[in-house]
Amino acid sequence: MEKGQNLISGTWVNSKSEDIIQLINPSDGGNFASIPRSGAIDIDLAAKSARRAFDKHWSKTPAFERGKYLQKISNKIYESIDELAIIESKDTGKPLKQSRVDAQVAARYFEFYAGAADKIHGEVIPSQQGINSFTKREPHGVTGHIIPWNYPLQMGSRTFAASLAAGNCVVIKPAEEACLSVLKIANFAIELGLPPDVINIVTGYGDETGAYLCKHRDIDHVCFTGSPEVGSLVQQNVALSNKSCTMELGGKSPHIVFSDCDLENAMPVILNSIIQNSGQTCSAGSRLIIDKDIKEKFLNLFTEKFSNLLVGSSDMDLDMGPLISETQKNRVLSFYDKAKKDSIPILASGSISEQVSKNGFYVNPLLLGPVPVNSTLATDEIFGPYLCVIPFSNEDEAVSIANGTDYGLTAGIWTKDGSRQMRVANSLKCGQVFINCYGAGGGVEIPFGGMKKSGFGREKGMEGLRELTVCKTIVQKFN
Ligand code: NAD
Repeated sequence: MEKGQNLISGTWVNSKSEDIIQLINPSDGGNFASIPRSGAIDIDLAAKSARRAFDKHWSKTPAFERGKYLQKISNKIYESIDELAIIESKDTGKPLKQSRVDAQVAARYFEFYAGAADKIHGEVIPSQQGINSFTKREPHGVTGHIIPWNYPLQMGSRTFAASLAAGNCVVIKPAEEACLSVLKIANFAIELGLPPDVINIVTGYGDETGAYLCKHRDIDHVCFTGSPEVGSLVQQNVALSNKSCTMELGGKSPHIVFSDCDLENAMPVILNSIIQNSGQTCSAGSRLIIDKDIKEKFLNLFTEKFSNLLVGSSDMDLDMGPLISETQKNRVLSFYDKAKKDSIPILASGSISEQVSKNGFYVNPLLLGPVPVNSTLATDEIFGPYLCVIPFSNEDEAVSIANGTDYGLTAGIWTKDGSRQMRVANSLKCGQVFINCYGAGGGVEIPFGGMKKSGFGREKGMEGLRELTVCKTIVQKFN
């Protein structure tokens, strides 16, 4: 059985307690690997290691040199796409083709931030005669990164590649359900000569290892990606030492489909956005807000596509894999029970291959509707492959439904009318709007993040670097 370890000061080690957590393959429910269950002492060692690295050498390493390390890691990831995809699929259950895409995106994050490392500029500010005022962006020092299980490769790379580029040293707490690909990338980094101490990884449970990380005095800034509920806990803990943080939280993202949309273009994208990663995607398009005038035509075609979906194990490489865990499966099925109880029609269901293990965490993808706007199916993040259909009569109503949840992460608008595209985009309360396209995942250059319960701060692109640096103002008087 594979055994993951913590990476502290450039050395792979067990947790001090020697306790472990078993990793479960979602495709068959079997144990296949273990990782350390780490405690306060392990976090302390990792945070001190990162602090030493920052003070001694990383803060003095020229930006372009930091970029060179990141480019080497990117090249290695590109060479290792298949190897990383196999690890990711076993760990998360996602089909191999999805994991290959995730590995490519991971390589792109390192590539993008390799080039960005020496392009983090300040400003010169016009002030009084004889005064030179300017700003520079400095690294926080040590950043802590808490990563979810749904996209370890992508989420891990996007947060710590950016942080290293910005000049920070990092302590990473990946998810206890799936994290082997993050350990693998860190191993690449060490093998490629990244100075030891710069990247430290400590695995464990959220309420133990994660909470210690947030409270630790040597961590200057926390990047959290996960659920809004845990995000609130993280904010309480970072507030104890007044650190800054970024919150990448959940979503209940809408597709708004107007009657003049290009159906052929819209349908496959909308379908993919709910089944990708079995719906366990923060930016999943989980609400289909559709013009009553086109609803019947759209659904006639769409239900057929939906009914053809086939679910299987990660190595069967079908449309969809299992969910991550028994807990997640039960959570998703509770929404199915709710739909049945409230007599919400099931318009279409995909099927599960007969060849899958009975111990895997499989659910059928479902198309449900019409779903009342105040139903929890329409308001809560299901984090599973359930798409809720909600009809509308006019543009104002569509916008009001789209904005009618506590979340505000992403949205899709489908219409050929250019004025409507801009009117609606401007009215949506969310961090990213896609017009006649959709997909937050691949665009490493495009700032990403939420409003409302979906969080604050931005990752990805140059904007992500702002969060990972602090602005220092220098005012110089001269004669
Ligand atoms: P989660 O919040 O349960 O866990 C996320 C991470 O937080 C894990 O590493 C976990 O160990 C850790 N954690 C748990 N309790 C903690 C605590 N008290 N202190 C510190 N850390 C703690 O989320 P999840 O179930 O792993 O992921 C699903 C959620 O993440 C969904 O809501 C999804 O939308 C969201 N998500 C958001 C984004 C984004 O970029 N906006 C991306 C992926 C996932």
